[in-house]
Amino acid sequence: MSEQEFKRALGYANSAFDLLKRSGIPPYPQFYELLYTYATGVNPTLNDRINAIFRAGQSPTLDLAETLYNEFLKSDVNDRISHVSERMHARIEAVHDAIDSAMTTANAYSGSLQAASGDLDREITGPAMKTLADRLLAETRRMQDTNRALEMQLEASRDDIASLQRDLDDVRRESLLDPLTKIANRKSFDEGLAAAMADASTNGNPLCLLLLDIDYFKNFNDTYGHQTGDQVLRLVAMTLKSNIKSKDLAARYGGEEFVAILPSTDLEGAMIVAENIRKAIAAKELMKRSTNEKLGRITASFGVAVFHPSDTASSLIERTDRCLYAAKHAGRNRVVSEIDLAAIRAA
Ligand code: GH3
Ligand code: MG
Ligand code: MG
Repeated sequence: MSEQEFKRALGYANSAFDLLKRSGIPPYPQFYELLYTYATGVNPTLNDRINAIFRAGQSPTLDLAETLYNEFLKSDVNDRISHVSERMHARIEAVHDAIDSAMTTANAYSGSLQAASGDLDREITGPAMKTLADRLLAETRRMQDTNRALEMQLEASRDDIASLQRDLDDVRRESLLDPLTKIANRKSFDEGLAAAMADASTNGNPLCLLLLDIDYFKNFNDTYGHQTGDQVLRLVAMTLKSNIKSKDLAARYGGEEFVAILPSTDLEGAMIVAENIRKAIAAKELMKRSTNEKLGRITASFGVAVFHPSDTASSLIERTDRCLYAAKHAGRNRVVSEIDLAAIRAA
């Protein structure tokens, strides 16, 4: 993490704390997260709502904070995981009950068998023999019934557990996707980068990282509204994804920043990929779906860096970010690689 990034994060944290203190909302993790998110401005719709509250001269109350947290931050995935886990729990409970009852019956049965064997050791008359046989038959039927019930219970559980398994798989898949753009989220990017770096270290193939940030996106949002902005984010995500190979990973890195991991790709190759994506984004004529209003075009700036054996994930990301920053600085709508960066520095 760069010093600059650390300072930025600390700034967000301080302003989140200030807001909590001023409005008397308890600094529980969820409310801290809410106001931290507000401080970063990554969720413009959330900020609009909170700003409207401030504008109305209100202070965000505990109730309001709870509502906003549930609406904007509480993850649907968490809800679904607890739902699956509750069902799993109920299922396991039912199986335990069925097993308990089967064991009780089996114990009673074994007791009856033992008693019968004691009776048989003694002299036994015809009618007593008949009573004994009837009793054993009844016990055996009861045992059979219990076994059948257990079998049915286990059968039902097997189906239910298979469906729970499918639900869990869905939840896991979703937990790796960005809800807005449906491409990989930051979590899958982190995992993907760690795996790609490990691979590159073992097989010695080059590995590149590409970071892009939409230019003047705040202006775009302010002019056309956040919903249209969200459409543009989806469009950029799709453009990025359709310009890389299947073994590459495209992810949403943050608000209007996207990233691609390019295994088995050298810097020169990665520059070509980035240049293609840059051109494809700049070539799109944006149109508001609801009104067919023409919205002009947007551009993005790119940083591209190659993995060095001594790199950690954060040193590689940081170098890529420096390239991106240089692309912004040099006028935007361009690609800067770490070689360009070295040349810029030398100049
Ligand atoms: P630059 O060219 O320097 O990158 O300028 P910029 O305006 O793109 O950069 P800045 O970091 O100032 O603003 C980023 C903006 O991206 C802020 C916010 O309006 C917008 N943004 C971030 N996340 C979202 C989102 O999920 N949806 C929408 N619609 N906009 C978002
Ligand atoms: Mg940005
Ligand atoms: Mg931007």
